[in-house]
Amino acid sequence: MPEPPKNGYKAIDYSVTEKNKKALQFIEDVTANADEVQKRVLAEILSRSAHVEYLRRHALNGHTDRETFKKLMPVITYEDLHPDINRIANGDTSPILCSKPISEFLTSSGTSGGERKLMPTIEEELERRSMLYSLLMPVMSQYVPGLDKGKGMYFLFIKSEAKTPGGLVARPVLTSYYKSCHFRERPYDPYTNYTSPNGTILCPDSYQSMYSQLLCGLCQNKEVLRVGAVFASGFIRAIRFLEKHWALLCNDIRTGSIDPRITDPSVREAVMKILKPNPKLADFIEGECRKASWQGIITRLWPNTKYVDVIVTGTMSQYIPTLDYYSNGLPLVCTMYASSECYFGVNLNPLCKPSEVSYTLIPTMAYFEFLPVHRNNGVTHSISVPKSLNEKEQKELVDLVDVKLGQEYELVVTTYAGLYRYRVGDVLRVAGFKNKAPQFNFICRKNVVLSIDSDKTDEVELQNAVKNAVNHLIPFDATLAEYTSYADTSTIPGHYVLFWELSLNGSTPIPPSVYEDCCLTIEESLNSVYRQGRVSDKSIGPLEIKIVESGTFDKLMDYAICLGASINQYKTPRCVKFVPIVELLNSRVISNYFSPKCPKWVPGHKQWCNKN
Ligand code: AMP
Repeated sequence: MPEPPKNGYKAIDYSVTEKNKKALQFIEDVTANADEVQKRVLAEILSRSAHVEYLRRHALNGHTDRETFKKLMPVITYEDLHPDINRIANGDTSPILCSKPISEFLTSSGTSGGERKLMPTIEEELERRSMLYSLLMPVMSQYVPGLDKGKGMYFLFIKSEAKTPGGLVARPVLTSYYKSCHFRERPYDPYTNYTSPNGTILCPDSYQSMYSQLLCGLCQNKEVLRVGAVFASGFIRAIRFLEKHWALLCNDIRTGSIDPRITDPSVREAVMKILKPNPKLADFIEGECRKASWQGIITRLWPNTKYVDVIVTGTMSQYIPTLDYYSNGLPLVCTMYASSECYFGVNLNPLCKPSEVSYTLIPTMAYFEFLPVHRNNGVTHSISVPKSLNEKEQKELVDLVDVKLGQEYELVVTTYAGLYRYRVGDVLRVAGFKNKAPQFNFICRKNVVLSIDSDKTDEVELQNAVKNAVNHLIPFDATLAEYTSYADTSTIPGHYVLFWELSLNGSTPIPPSVYEDCCLTIEESLNSVYRQGRVSDKSIGPLEIKIVESGTFDKLMDYAICLGASINQYKTPRCVKFVPIVELLNSRVISNYFSPKCPKWVPGHKQWCNKN
């Protein structure tokens, strides 16, 4: 992820080398004194918030020490905060969670009741985020020198925003960041020198934004030293876009004029500062794009690229083979780990293999605690519906410096913006230590079974969606005997696949349109992040149902049992990833159907839209 210019330890006037040294020294200091820093961070948060309603409700009475905090404050999930969040969204400006005014809501890709979660934030969090970003290039420069001598081609986008009934803006954290002066008004810095001008990034129309960013990236192809996007899925989407639109782009480069479909005046103005007629470059790009194979297209078109900067940890690992193909095996670099709740940490060994990536949590970002996770046969002991922790479980939480190597934990944060002992929902494993600060492998998001882009679908949502869809089968006297699902990323964009085995009792054949209705009903029933991915971002393709021969799920069970599953305890997995199992299912498909159109989606929250 690209970094901003400003940095928290105020190194603005130093040379690049000097700045890098300062940033690395900062990392040394805060990791060497991780426990002291954490203690200070907690005391700072609690003393500032001593009078907020939430802390008074739990009778913290101004205490700022860890012991009292841990004794009195419950470990919570979003659902516990929902009533308070609703009050803030509806315009209550009293200090409910935080003593500082809530500046906006960040809409997380995690959902609650089918809608994006709303994370309150405060103005100063932007600085904390900027500080974390500013650590990334100094770390990277230790491994890849000369990155200040060229540009980064990053595909960065804003998404739609909404207003809560109380008038606060609600938007994704990156939209908030790119629109902030921290990003827009950054002074010149060789590390934030991107091929995409601000005008192209800040364009709300995703087609025009992508088109213009690619155009600018192609025009400056020789200067590009690194390429990337936030998540792997976004970067692959850009390559796919290029596959579809290279002829138009080459035409623009040849003539030095922009395609009339690009109508946004700020985009046109920004691009025209870069675009000059260049028939030679247009011929070269056309020659490469025309070739039958797109293997290594990144290094062919941007020959000085040293690495691809995208997150490929967690569910994004499914895109590694595609990225390897397009980049001819350039290093895939995961630089940071962050969320709407809080930015967490950085990867101090960025050239390591994707499977070995670990993130060092930066102790100044928030107060971190860790709830041990016990896994059974590689399957997280997950409860589908979040449950409160009992007293004994609450006591199991450990501090940052007390986590054990190899152990898995769920991350719990207390932030400057008003979250106290909040379960983020991520499972991390301790991979090592930087001084006293642990480094974590990202293992998974709790309960999520399907994900293509930033969508996160859990088992309960999938189950409800399928339940709604099978109503279409009732008139045909057919029932769903078994089902499972699979995130198919071999297509671009990827899409959800459901394998259905039916019990057919009636004699009337089921027409394809009924299965298509089933596909659409599932999509309509999934959460708003999924539907936004389908409708607005077009990052998810139409959902597919594959009908399998009867007896297929028995075969699946036989297979699992021969791999060591217990017959008594066997349950059909609601999502499959293991390639031989996917192949087994695919080998028994009788017919398949796709969703015929996009599900409904509107920006903002359902309840706000109803009110307006
Ligand atoms: P959001 O709240 O929408 O910003 O999403 C934040 C979530 O994205 C985190 O809690 C993680 O589950 C996931 N995430 C963020 N950074 C990474 C990363 N580097 N590797 C894997 N997952 C990540």
